[in-house]
Amino acid sequence: MMLGFLLARAGVDVVVLEKHGDFLRDFRGDTIHPSTLELMHELGILADFLQKPHQEVRELGAQIGDEFVMLADFSHLPTHCKFIALMPQWDFLDFLAGHAGRYPGFRLKMRTEVIDLLRDSGQIIGVRAKTPDGIVDIRAGLIVGADGRHSIVREKAGLPFDELGAPMDVLWFRVSRRTGDGEQTFGRISKGKMMVMLNRGDYWQCAYLIRKGDLDQIKHAGLPAFQNDIVSVVPFLRDRMNELRSWDDIKLLTVRVDRLRKWYCPGLLCIGDAAHAMSPIGGVGINLAIQDAVAAANILAPHLAQAGPAVSHLKRVQSRRELPTRITQAVQVFIQNRLIRRVLGSNEQIPTPWPVKLVRRWPALRRVPARIVGIGFRSEHIRV
Ligand SMILES: Cc1cc2nc3c(=O)[nH]c(=O)nc-3n(C[C@H](O)[C@H](O)[C@H](O)COP(=O)(O)OP(=O)(O)OC[C@H]3O[C@@H](n4cnc5c(N)ncnc54)[C@H](O)[C@@H]3O)c2cc1C
Repeated sequence: MMLGFLLARAGVDVVVLEKHGDFLRDFRGDTIHPSTLELMHELGILADFLQKPHQEVRELGAQIGDEFVMLADFSHLPTHCKFIALMPQWDFLDFLAGHAGRYPGFRLKMRTEVIDLLRDSGQIIGVRAKTPDGIVDIRAGLIVGADGRHSIVREKAGLPFDELGAPMDVLWFRVSRRTGDGEQTFGRISKGKMMVMLNRGDYWQCAYLIRKGDLDQIKHAGLPAFQNDIVSVVPFLRDRMNELRSWDDIKLLTVRVDRLRKWYCPGLLCIGDAAHAMSPIGGVGINLAIQDAVAAANILAPHLAQAGPAVSHLKRVQSRRELPTRITQAVQVFIQNRLIRRVLGSNEQIPTPWPVKLVRRWPALRRVPARIVGIGFRSEHIRV
């Protein structure tokens, strides 16, 4: 959506295809990071964005056993917004679509699911899509696969990838939030269990981590046992467990971390999770996908407005974005293996990890995780 918006703004004809009839899904993360907010400032739409209902997260903390540690402080970032905005992704996508729709070259086709690629002499020249009116073929000078971590585009293009692995999956659910719960968005670690709670105003969006493949065992133990597990991590949720009436209220989100070796082939480019599926750690995947979109627009818009991009231009997008992606994924995999695998693999309380001890001892170090999460590596700026 972001790339479609930027290209249409640069005078390129764009069609964005979305397989669903709306953006109403609550499993893609809700975080809009300071660097993304900065892009909106550069586009002149930040004030409009901040009119929409959202929450502002200025610090991130963790409860490890009995101890609460503040881990990240966004107040020193060199950006206009020194906070993460929490907004349902459907509101954010509707917002971007609304702004993109002001440009004559922008078209959004909902309920249009890409099922195959069209080829001619080794070049991708379009997509085949399923719509309520039947199968349609859509041809374009460039196809961009931005279809997420189960990308059909990259599968059909046969682009090889490296699986970096993830030891966990996430159970995703919401419970009501009450006055007295506190404001903070935070993670909790307690004796073999780990949960992250995002403050969404009148409810908590909860992410409960489980070992990959453990869901059947957890379901077999029964919903009351699962509710007890949640309460053992966050005792103040005890009187709200009846809000989880059945397993239908709890969604399994499978985590994968992988990366394409080559993000492109003639006529096609992948960005976002389609090029590099991100772990939820740090909640940085949306940010990275948007940074890819900005880099792609900056590099490709001038060529798309003319003859169409050559493979060398697509390669430049990968060259620009691969390093920040590699570094971010390396940090995520490090935390997965050093912390999450250890927590989920034992029923003992883990000792406070050394990076947390460092931050506790020297609070100024909270700026480091704030910078990594809030801005990331190699930030992009609007150039077209
Ligand atoms: C459990 C979990 C929690 C996460 N939490 C966060 C978080 O809090 N913050 C954060 O920044 N990141 C988070 N992430 C990572 C984040 O979800 C992704 O990195 C980010 O959404 C990638 O954006 P994207 O646009 O590339 O793909 P997506 O957001 O997955 O969007 C892909 C779009 O393509 C559409 N689509 C898919 N297939 C087709 C098709 N065949 N035809 C047409 N349309 C199609 C989909 O419907 C979707 O709208 C989380 C990930 C997981 C697994």
